[in-house]
This record gives sequence, C-alpha cells and structure tokens, in this order.
Amino acid sequence: MPTRPLELNSYYRLPWNLADNAITWLEPTTKCNIYCDGCYRENDPDGHKPLEQVISDLENIKKFRKTDGISIAGGEPLIYPHLLELVRYVTSQGWKSIIITNGEALTKDLVVELMEAGCRGFTVHVDSHQKRPDWRGASEKDLNELRLKIARMIYEGGRGKIFCAFNTTVYRDTLSQVPVLARWAQDHMDIVNTFVYILYRSEKKTDEFDKYVGGEKVDTSNLVYQLDRMEDHEDVVTQEVVDQIRTVCPDYEPSAFLNGTADPGTSKWLLALRTGNAREIIAYQDPKFIEMVQAGYHLLKGNYLAYANPSFQRRAKLMLPMALVNRGVRRTFGKLLANPARLFRPLHTQSIMIIQPPDILPDGRQNMCDGCPDGFYYKGRFIWKCRMDELEKYGDFVTTVPRKKLVPVDFDAAE
Ligand code: SF4
Repeated sequence: MPTRPLELNSYYRLPWNLADNAITWLEPTTKCNIYCDGCYRENDPDGHKPLEQVISDLENIKKFRKTDGISIAGGEPLIYPHLLELVRYVTSQGWKSIIITNGEALTKDLVVELMEAGCRGFTVHVDSHQKRPDWRGASEKDLNELRLKIARMIYEGGRGKIFCAFNTTVYRDTLSQVPVLARWAQDHMDIVNTFVYILYRSEKKTDEFDKYVGGEKVDTSNLVYQLDRMEDHEDVVTQEVVDQIRTVCPDYEPSAFLNGTADPGTSKWLLALRTGNAREIIAYQDPKFIEMVQAGYHLLKGNYLAYANPSFQRRAKLMLPMALVNRGVRRTFGKLLANPARLFRPLHTQSIMIIQPPDILPDGRQNMCDGCPDGFYYKGRFIWKCRMDELEKYGDFVTTVPRKKLVPVDFDAAE
C-alpha cells in the first residue's frame, strides 16, 4: 500500500498542557459490566468510590488545572450509583460533563435523564476485542450495527444537542478493518461528531527491558494491558492507521497533533477535521482553522475547547463567516459554489482522532503524550490514566532500563 508520510511540522501543535487542557479524566468507579482486552484498568467488583471522594478529586482538579470538559470514565460510569448527582455537580462547576462508556447500560430514557442533569456528550467505546455477551465473535463491520443503534439513541434522546463520539481500539488483527470503520464514520457524519482510533499498546511478556520501581526490579507480567498470546504481538503505529483510512478516504489529511514527551517527532494525538456529508467529503480543515478555534475559545472562555456544540457541527454552513479570515474555509465554500447542487445538501463537520499510547524508546524512555488530555488526579499527583495500573500494583511508575547488551570481546585484537 502506498504511504504518504505524516508531516507533523506542518500541522498545528495543540496547545494543551498539564495545567491548562481541554479535558480531564475522572474515575468514579473501576467496576465494569464487561471485560475489554484493551482496558487500562483492572475490573474491580467493589470499585465504586464514595461520591464525596470523587467530589474531592474534582475540587483538587479545580485547584491545579483549567479544563473545559470532565471525562467521567471508569470502569463503567453508567453503573455508578451516584452518576446523576455527579453529572449535576460537574455541571454546577461550569465544566462540560462527558460520559466515557461502553454503552451496554445506555437507554434512551437514561440519555434524557443525563441530559437533564447537564450531560453534554458521550464517548462510546465499541470494538471487537470486548467481551459483549450479545456480540461474541462479531467483527468491526458487524459492530457497526451496534454503533448505529447507540448513535441513534443518543441523537434521539438528546434531541440532537448531545455530542456523540465513538472510540475503537485498533489491534494488529483488526487493522485491516479500519477502512470499514472509516466509511461508517463518514456515512453517519450527521449524528456521529467524532470517531477515535486508539492503538492497542501492550505490556510484552518478553522484551529487551528490565523494569524497576524505587530501585527494585519488578515483574510486570500482571499489568492489565496484555493479550493472552503476546509473544508475536507488534503494536500498531499511527501511520499504519492513516494508510488504512486513506484507502477509502484518499484526501484524509490531519491538521493538529500532540507529540511524544521523549520523541517530539512522534504523533500521539492526531486530529483531522473534515466537512462534508455521507455522499462526499468537501474538505479537510487546515491547521490555521484549528488554531483559530482553540485560541479564540481560550480568549473568550479562559480554557481550550473540548467537544464543540453538535448543533453547530451538523450545520457546517455556519462556518461561512470564517471564510473572511481562513483560507481553508474559503476553499471549502469555493468548492460548494463550483457545484451549486452541493449548497442544497446538508453539510456537517466531523473530527477524526488517532491516539497512539505510550511506547518505549530503545534507550528505555517512555514516550508519553505531551500535554496528556487524559490526566487524572490521584492521591495528590496528576498522572496519566493509562499508567494507573502501575501505581496500584507497584506503588509508583515503572522505569524501563534496556538490558545490558553483551559486547563480544575480540580476543585477537586484545593480544
Ligand atoms: S499519556 Fe496515556 S493517558 Fe495520557 S493521553 Fe496519552 S495514552 Fe491517554
């Protein structure tokens, strides 16, 4: 397959950082109603936290971090007994409440109840490595039926005012199904505002690193993120997903990114924003557009934007005034005028995100997302939610050290 390499330096580097970010992670529970291969958290049947503790975490977030949205995650937040009170509390603090869910417990009535409590959006994680009782053996293509059912539930229950995003973990064995997902996302741009590919990262059973915590060697084979048969597993990288998307969306072009903490040349969060409809994509918005939106929102609201208003995303023609100041939007409307029939068709915007979680560089440094949006307040520290399991199992983060390479001695030369 031909590759068009990513050019990070030509994209807008999202301005998110530790103290001022678009979103912040919150875990009211670590209990879940299904098991997923790609989950970062151990499913704990007693994992519901007292509401007071969760609110205290939020108070600490408020002290240390500006944020637009709170990702109410888990575990599975829809089975958290105090979810409605929590959503009301988050909303009362001026944050957008976003529920990160597997959707199993979602009903239209619950969407209505949550919206009335102030919920602004759902990010629903669906992939074929989840153990959903009714979808055993389903492929990503089969699961599009479930995705559509959930998207319609959110749209109808939320009367079009609730943001709808889907997450999918991409494994080596599901990489070839990315085009089916990319096509599905375009087909439902009217009700699906964002589609996110999260690349599976694994703790390898055998690798070239020794692991330490506090100077002591640890065995990390019980970390939660690993498959049963890991020996031949190779993590997927962003460029591979980009190549797959381009087989069905040849013009796919990202415009913004977050780089790695240890290697600034790696993509960690890669954002594309496109305008079009199920029939055709008219344009991918340019880096300046994202910069104007992020900077403008910060100027007006004091924090960076997370989750745009879905009513606005469904009516992309409202972007027209931005044509005065943005070349990309001018190009979009130029294309509409070039074929006036397009003016009478609906026009939506949809963001596509590819997230590549931590990877370990050959020298042992862990390459995290620089400006991690899924930062989490945990016992007095702001941490990456994807490495919580290390804190819980070993009391601190694991340090990786390359195993000493034995350099063969050249005895002839030594004589
Ligand atoms: S560092 Fe980990 S928690 Fe933070 S955004 Fe990246 S993958 Fe998510």
